[in-house]
Amino acid sequence: MEEWVHQLENRVNTLKKLKEFINVTPDEEKAIKSLKTRWGTTPYFASLMDPNDPKCPIRMQVVPSIKELENKYGMKDYLVWKENREEDRPDSIARQYHDRIAFTIVDECASYCRHCFRKEVVTDRRLKLRFDVEEGLEWIREHKEIRDVLMTGGDPFILSDDKIKYLVDSLREIPHIEMIRFHTRIPVTLPHRITPGLTKVMKGHHRVPIWVVIQCNHPKEITERVSKAVYDLLSCGINVGNQGVLLKGINDDVKTFRELHQKLLSIRVRPYYIFYCEPAPGIDHFRTPVEKGAELIRDAIRGHTSGLAQPMYVIATNIGKIPLMPDYYILEKNEKEYKLRNYEGKETTIPNIPE
Ligand code: SF4
Repeated sequence: MEEWVHQLENRVNTLKKLKEFINVTPDEEKAIKSLKTRWGTTPYFASLMDPNDPKCPIRMQVVPSIKELENKYGMKDYLVWKENREEDRPDSIARQYHDRIAFTIVDECASYCRHCFRKEVVTDRRLKLRFDVEEGLEWIREHKEIRDVLMTGGDPFILSDDKIKYLVDSLREIPHIEMIRFHTRIPVTLPHRITPGLTKVMKGHHRVPIWVVIQCNHPKEITERVSKAVYDLLSCGINVGNQGVLLKGINDDVKTFRELHQKLLSIRVRPYYIFYCEPAPGIDHFRTPVEKGAELIRDAIRGHTSGLAQPMYVIATNIGKIPLMPDYYILEKNEKEYKLRNYEGKETTIPNIPE
């Protein structure tokens, strides 16, 4: 049996198994027993948790919390609103833009994130969708304006090599498709999945390139094993980026935020987005004030480390992603000049050229 399948078959998803990895607190035990939610992770990812610290950043993302019962700010039917699911389209197609769509092909993951914005489908499972791949492919064939297909779920890399090959081959046969993206947390939570079998399906030069976007939220998640998985993806011609989520108590301090983005570059992953934690129900405890991400880019990244380490900070909404970047750079503008300020608070001027 391949190692990744073994990891999945031995998922840590019962209290008994969890107790083999950590000293479960009474609150964690209460949450596991009372919440009707899908939870669990791989033995590999579980082994990264601190057995004695309930505030361990990996543990907080994996072990259910009683705080998930609180919902002061989360929006009801969040996903229907966010993904415009009331419009007439197959369940597998989520659309906010003219030329690209999210193709939701599976509702399973290797590890269930407690902060998941798709939790209504993936962990709480109150929203039932039909993951009909054929229906989705047909819709994509008919919509010639779609040039970029983002495969998501759940986690698309949980599918077998054969299914992934079928999807990649089918999409590459559609003349108007120019790129395929996989959005997956599996290279982080189950790096064993990046096998020669999987890379064979995706490797090589082709008219339609494949991009893989991972979700890594804390430097502790970046291990030698993850580094090798990323290298194997890059070695077969796949670009790898990161979309992190800004999570309270996990990565919302200057030191962790900087280290996360520096460490991503050290394993050749380009930071792409950092998302504001979306107003899905039951995840209030992960959310910071909106300004926090922009402050972290100002105080931890911009000017403080390589520019390549800077993700774009965005909030995902029903009308697309809205950038929320720091706005302190232009101090003043008049007919003659711009007055600018840098990350250290120093000021300078450059001429204002009329159009
Ligand atoms: S891997 Fe993605 S879809 Fe799955 S639980 Fe985490 S955030 Fe949600």
